Amino acid sequence: CKIDYQPAADLLDGRIILVTGAGDGIGRAAALAFAGHGATVILLGRTIAKLEKVYDEIEAAGGPQPAIFPLNFEGATLKDYHDMAETLDKEFGRLDGILHNAGILGRITPFEQYNPELWEQVMQVNINGPIWMTQALLPLLKSSPDASVVFTSSSVGRRGRAYWGAYAVSKFATEGFVEVLADEVEHLGTLRVNSLNPGATRTAMRKTAYPGEDERTLRGPEEIMPTYLWLMGPESRGHNGEKFDAQPPKRG
Ligand code: NDP
Repeated sequence: CKIDYQPAADLLDGRIILVTGAGDGIGRAAALAFAGHGATVILLGRTIAKLEKVYDEIEAAGGPQPAIFPLNFEGATLKDYHDMAETLDKEFGRLDGILHNAGILGRITPFEQYNPELWEQVMQVNINGPIWMTQALLPLLKSSPDASVVFTSSSVGRRGRAYWGAYAVSKFATEGFVEVLADEVEHLGTLRVNSLNPGATRTAMRKTAYPGEDERTLRGPEEIMPTYLWLMGPESRGHNGEKFDAQPPKRG
């Protein structure tokens, strides 16, 4: 956990970083933070109006001009990921980072009542879509002298909990995939792949999972950005296949 990390203002200068689910919640905060530290951010998500708002916020703050990439992991095909790679190759020629952040909760419900279609949907958005996108983008990541891929996990991706169903399983799969890919790219020395658990954070998803909770007890997305910045920046070089937490575990 790097919650006390103090990033230099130019930490990500010149870097091209893709953020999925960049229109809302943690992804929005990460896009703003990365751009605020000099990165050219590619804003990927399914709701264009939200991405446009983030785009405008980055411009208004004087950050490098971002790019918008509309994509819905539910319907996206391999062709979409390869077209995406081609577009990014033409535009930027490389990719210095991906924050895999887009995700859905599915339903908190006993497994006996879990709807199989919803299960498939959660697996598609939280793990299958992101891994095929990563496969298509690997050549671009390999073109970078120092690339960081961060997958968003969860505490239920490290220890299962009753009723968390497909969400927990998708996060376990995420952790497993991080270990596999990290091991495969270790020899390159220029590409690292890690998992990051944001911890309880004040967003729409958290509210759906814990409707009765007092939101004031939670950290906001912008408060957990130090670990995100550290993982995207040069100081995390050499860390590969590791599990990180964006905030200290709750006491009590
Ligand atoms: P939000 O629901 O606030 O944001 C999720 C983002 O993902 C939204 O921008 C959403 O787009 C996007 N998204 C959802 N489905 C798709 C899709 N099919 N295709 C493309 N984009 C999609 O969630 P959080 O910010 O809370 O969560 C971000 C990540 O952090 C997730 O991976 C989550 O599992 C993880 N996490 C969050 C915790 C928390 O306490 N908040 C704790 C542990 C992990 P749109 O805005 O259009 O809906």
